[in-house]
Amino acid sequence: AEPRLVVVRASRISPRLTLLVIRDITERERVQQMRRDFVANTSHELKTPVGAVSLLAEAIESAADDPPQVRIFAARLTAEASRLALLTSRIMNLSRLQSADELTEERVVSVDEIVASAVEAHAILADSAGVEVVRGGTRGMYVRGDAQVLGEAVGNLVANAIAYSPKGSSVGVGVKVVDGVVEIAVADRGIGIAEGDQDRVFERFYRADQARSRRTGGSGLGLSIVKHAVQRHGGEVVLWSRPGRGSTFTIRLPQSDAPPDQVQPKPKRK
Ligand code: ADP
Repeated sequence: AEPRLVVVRASRISPRLTLLVIRDITERERVQQMRRDFVANTSHELKTPVGAVSLLAEAIESAADDPPQVRIFAARLTAEASRLALLTSRIMNLSRLQSADELTEERVVSVDEIVASAVEAHAILADSAGVEVVRGGTRGMYVRGDAQVLGEAVGNLVANAIAYSPKGSSVGVGVKVVDGVVEIAVADRGIGIAEGDQDRVFERFYRADQARSRRTGGSGLGLSIVKHAVQRHGGEVVLWSRPGRGSTFTIRLPQSDAPPDQVQPKPKRK
């Protein structure tokens, strides 16, 4: 974009000389625009579940003397409320990742721990979807960063892999190291992503068409959280996918040395 220059100060030094202080506000405007878009998108996305919650609450009230009906509405209310809770927590996480704040906790983190927590957190989801999650690859690797943020990023990929896979299929979570870069790959044999959607799925609130009709529970924020979380750790996310064949999302992060207390002490000579 063209730089936008504004004069922030003009002082006349002599009859023939004026000092101008000029600032490029392009970046600041871009950030402000992003913030406005985020607020607009967010309010739009929140309207649907908030509306559903209040409609269901009204429905329960007016069905008070029909207990079976009340139970049905109440179950739907619970589902909408938990969807709303997930959506708001994701919006908060994303805005935290996009802000200039420091990551809360930075330390050397075990990749095994990140992967284990991401897989364990989705064990029930995998079970109910009839999808098996298989771990593989190199153990004992480390990266630097915030364990919770990285765990959530891998977890979002695992959740998607499960959600967009057919019953009875398996999802692989593998770790390997290539030239000092730790690669955490989450691979599924699910519906895949059309080529034209492959860049866009990382945008906030973007959902590909197949996904929309398949699973209405999604927020469209999962991958955008993954992207920001990984970028804040000096890494990147790479996507390979073919419609009908499956998808592999690979998180690449700079490898770190093991923390001092994890380094095996050299055997003492007697
Ligand atoms: P959602 O909550 O919709 O899953 P995400 O940001 O996690 O939001 O993903 C955005 C979109 O990317 C999804 O709606 C879906 O269209 C597509 N997508 C993500 N992961 C996969 C996958 N493993 N297989 C197929 N499509 C996927």
